[in-house]
Amino acid sequence: MDPTKMNPMNRSVLKMKKGLPYFEIPEMAKLGWLRHGFLTRQGGVSLPPYDSLNVGDANGDRNRNVIRNRERIAETFGFEPSRLILLIQIHQDRILLLKDVFPSLPPLLEYDALITNIPNLFSGILTADCIPIFVVDRKKRAFAVIHAGRQGTAMHITKKVLRKMKEEFGSSTGDILIAAGPSIGPCCYEIDEKVFQKEWDVFSKPKTEGRWALDLLRVNRAQMKEEGIKENQIFRVDLCTRCHNDLFFSYRGEGRTGRQLSFIGIIQTNWNNGTLE
Ligand SMILES: [Zn+2]
Repeated sequence: MDPTKMNPMNRSVLKMKKGLPYFEIPEMAKLGWLRHGFLTRQGGVSLPPYDSLNVGDANGDRNRNVIRNRERIAETFGFEPSRLILLIQIHQDRILLLKDVFPSLPPLLEYDALITNIPNLFSGILTADCIPIFVVDRKKRAFAVIHAGRQGTAMHITKKVLRKMKEEFGSSTGDILIAAGPSIGPCCYEIDEKVFQKEWDVFSKPKTEGRWALDLLRVNRAQMKEEGIKENQIFRVDLCTRCHNDLFFSYRGEGRTGRQLSFIGIIQTNWNNGTLE
């Protein structure tokens, strides 16, 4: 048996472009009309503790360096920095829908998910332990980005995004591909009874009194499965952010630190006699 087919959950590859390492999901890359990448902390200009590819502008890093890092990413992957729409992630469950035409955006994008079908619009999620999730409808040519941290997950944000894609784009469950980026694993993620949810019982292991090791991705996978998604439609970058501090920022591991970007966008394509050029 082809070893790469044995565990579809792990299928991602580490690539390098102009000095920027990033993880890619081959099944998404081969669609042709989509560009995406799960960037690491490497390849940027920020100084410790934001070294070096910090894309977050609310953690204390110099604004100038954040802008240079964003420009470097946009240039490397071939899009205008102004076409990268980042959310002000606030650990809630609000979803921003941008449909059909490029909108004039409200000044404060306080959302934790975005759904769109607009070409040349890139979006992304900033993380340092939380799970960045991409949902792609390969037939309707739409995608979503989701910031799934503990609180968003407790509010079922992943399930809500899948439902909204069905409502807004008529997405069929079988056409969906999902990718989860690097995030803190159950190896390193302990929570206490103040935030523990009863429904997480089956996804966690009791540790010391009143503490659990939680597998946040499994909780989100369960939400996907409740919406009819099958295991072979889910892909992931199978690396714990805290265990791999050389590659990723980790809030649990470092406290004051940067945020890595996971980005995705639809590339403008021209139709000619019904075939893609
Ligand atoms: Zn770990």
